[in-house]
Amino acid sequence: MVVNVEHRTARIAQRPEPHRPRGSEVLLRPIEVGICGTDREIFGFAHGAPPPGSSELVLGHEAVAEIVETGPDATWARANHLVVPMVRRPCADPRCAACRAGRPEYCATGEFSERGIVHADGFMTECVLEDERYLVSVPRVLEDVAVLIEPLSVVAKAAEELAAIHARFGFDLPRRRALVLGAGPVGLLAAMTLRADDIDTYVFSREPEDSPRAGLIRALEATYVSAARTPIERLPELIGPVDDVFEAVGVAEVAFGALPALAANGAMVMTGIPEPRGAVPAELGRWMRDLVLKNQVLLGTVNAGRAAFESAIHRLERFMILFPDAVRSLLARSPLEQAPDVLVRARGIKDAIAIGRGQAARGGASTGTGGS
Ligand SMILES: [Zn+2]
Ligand SMILES: [Zn+2]
Repeated sequence: MVVNVEHRTARIAQRPEPHRPRGSEVLLRPIEVGICGTDREIFGFAHGAPPPGSSELVLGHEAVAEIVETGPDATWARANHLVVPMVRRPCADPRCAACRAGRPEYCATGEFSERGIVHADGFMTECVLEDERYLVSVPRVLEDVAVLIEPLSVVAKAAEELAAIHARFGFDLPRRRALVLGAGPVGLLAAMTLRADDIDTYVFSREPEDSPRAGLIRALEATYVSAARTPIERLPELIGPVDDVFEAVGVAEVAFGALPALAANGAMVMTGIPEPRGAVPAELGRWMRDLVLKNQVLLGTVNAGRAAFESAIHRLERFMILFPDAVRSLLARSPLEQAPDVLVRARGIKDAIAIGRGQAARGGASTGTGGS
């Protein structure tokens, strides 16, 4: 699936097969690729950039793949292993301490590339090369749901940052209480993460209280609060103070509107990216007063590195013991030919494009066989 940013077109295209893997390269056959808001923005030409020298970008950053062939210098990668590629690749700036330390998720220059998003082709293709250093090994038992590992890695990074913030106290909270803003895929994965850690969890979103997503949240033994019935101003009196707010809605009024629900010593982590628009009136004085007098932390997080991917795999294994049906109910699968349609209209809570499952031999063209 390629997007041409020059001509503003998107299509399923035939591309030359990649060369055989050299050095520590690995030839991958993607099995499934998840679709998120970022893909939909790229498909709408609002975001994304092709690799240098090209006008086309292959979409897809949330992949699960099988290894077909390894280069002569690959150390751990083996044919038929299941892997998930990380998304971000480091910048080249020698002064970027994060990238030089192998932590491009904290890149300070913004000159990184991201597969399927900026300056590097993605994985919505039948075969693709990747260096083994950017792959994370996945147990076969997770194959069915492994397409959730990339979005869950973002949640895992946020959860671990929240835990690190709470660890600064040197004492344990008697019982952590958390509020998730938004019931999209990231919000629901956050609710699962919190529930798997046995944290009392509330989810606030716009869907009505009898919606399937609300039912899914109740199945996790979390409490759903619908914005259709409860305005955000009433959240603090309804649910009481929370130690964590996990923002996954990308609307500034909702994020900052939930701040009064934050307890003393509480932390809010934000993962949503608001659309650029005009200024909104804000109670800056009250927010600053609360942050200081209540030792509160406001934190933003983006992307994820190897530790967060590995944490996501462990967390997903636990989810599949605790609430496998809830996890599976997130996913709706469509074939590659239907990718253009799915990119416009969501079919499930989390859409995935099925590409190479069950294929025994090396795939053909690199970006699909669906014609045009
Ligand atoms: Zn994504
Ligand atoms: Zn960097």
